[in-house]
Amino acid sequence: EEVSLVPFITTIIEDFSLLNEANSVTIEWVAEEREMKVSFDAFLMTTVLLNILENAVKYGKDVVRISVNVIEDKQNYHISITDNGLGISPKEQERIFDKFYRVQTGNIHQVKGLGLGLYYAWQVIKAHQGELGVTSTLTEGTTFTITLPKR
Ligand code: ATP
Ligand code: MG
Repeated sequence: EEVSLVPFITTIIEDFSLLNEANSVTIEWVAEEREMKVSFDAFLMTTVLLNILENAVKYGKDVVRISVNVIEDKQNYHISITDNGLGISPKEQERIFDKFYRVQTGNIHQVKGLGLGLYYAWQVIKAHQGELGVTSTLTEGTTFTITLPKR
């Protein structure tokens, strides 16, 4: 379905912020005025964004800062979600999209999860002819970037 990207992301961030009211989570999101229409399954895309946001809190430090940005080029929209969390080593970055894969270090043992969130996110983005990328620095934080074709 045709979705207007900025209001779509704004709603998800508002809902996510309500869910995390009790925690120390700050989300920086500057909603642009420009209309950005894109075609995707809104339910599936919501689960993708919520898992990435949820991960930023689960694998974050005591004070979580997340920043969300959308930029566009000729062909694509790029949604990036940056956190100030534990980070992911280059070796682990290759595996986090694998089914059931979870990083076995530090305090992550105590954080529950199935290791399915990013696997499904990858599948959903692929099914929309998009790309899901990660860049990260250990102890500093991680950026996930969702690229979606405009048409
Ligand atoms: P689920 O999402 O199925 O509840 P999960 O969060 O463990 O479980 P994924 O979302 O697929 O699974 O993430 C896979 C692994 O990647 C996580 O277990 C964690 O080790 C690592 N990871 C994911 N996001 C981050 C992040 N923002 N910062 C640091 N590590 C991360
Ligand atoms: Mg997850």
